[in-house]
Amino acid sequence: MFIAGIDIGGTSIKAMIVDEKKNVHFSFVLPTAAQDGKNAILKNLFLCIETCSKEYAIQGIGIGTAGRVNVKTGEIVYATDNLPGWEGTKLKELVESEFGLPAAIENDANAALIGEMWTGAAQNYQDAVMLTLGTGVGGAQAIRGRVHHGSGWSGGEWGHSILYPGGKPCNCGLKGCIEQYLSGRALLSRANTESIVIFRNGSEVFEEFEKGNPDIIKVVEGYLDDLVTVLTTLRNGMDPEVILIGGGVIDSRRIWWPLLESKLAALPFQLYVRPAELGNNAGCVGAGKMMLDMLLEQSVNKVL
Ligand SMILES: [Zn+2]
Repeated sequence: MFIAGIDIGGTSIKAMIVDEKKNVHFSFVLPTAAQDGKNAILKNLFLCIETCSKEYAIQGIGIGTAGRVNVKTGEIVYATDNLPGWEGTKLKELVESEFGLPAAIENDANAALIGEMWTGAAQNYQDAVMLTLGTGVGGAQAIRGRVHHGSGWSGGEWGHSILYPGGKPCNCGLKGCIEQYLSGRALLSRANTESIVIFRNGSEVFEEFEKGNPDIIKVVEGYLDDLVTVLTTLRNGMDPEVILIGGGVIDSRRIWWPLLESKLAALPFQLYVRPAELGNNAGCVGAGKMMLDMLLEQSVNKVL
């Protein structure tokens, strides 16, 4: 059974074909063109799906997208300016009527966690939390094998929990959110403030850390101390079997993961933290898996 798994982000729309044996057959990327508004996003999304359906006889379309998603109706209930006009889009309805195929819609971070639980770092776990440290800080959580969405579809928005009360203002309207300290962008800004060297991205910051620049060692130590504080809070609130860390910051983990592990080892309890494994593919793989599950559930119900 071939399923299209699609991930709609602020800059690109990525599509893959997955099957029930966990194989990935095809991959295709287009720019989102989000700055041109909702119709442009939909046009590129439809082009992605069309390309997938020309290559494979797909039986369903799973989509992970930035924003909060009502997974029952497939409607985008909240979206930031990263996807202008996206809020209120009845995505499931639009995709199903355009292609005549069933569609399942999910938030992108939730889709990524589903992907990691299927073929990545959280396989064989039922209770898992994921933090993505990228441009922003995303999050998702699964309880007994199922994503926990919360009452308003915003479950797992750990990036907007407060780390420092009264701290840096956040675009969500609060002050001191985790995102303002743990995103890749926040790390970069800390490093550029604390050092005379100008860094263009997080990888350069970690490379400078490796070279032993004392200013940057202080920055990275502070960043990881904040991360450990957040991980401790997640552990105390959710008590998961595993916490995954994904996002762009993970690309430099060779440099900083050992330091994180030594900080975790100093805690008075054991905390099982692992790097995510699927990288940018997690959202597509998870979206495909979600659609697969829905089709399998429907066929079981038919038999019953
Ligand atoms: Zn915030």
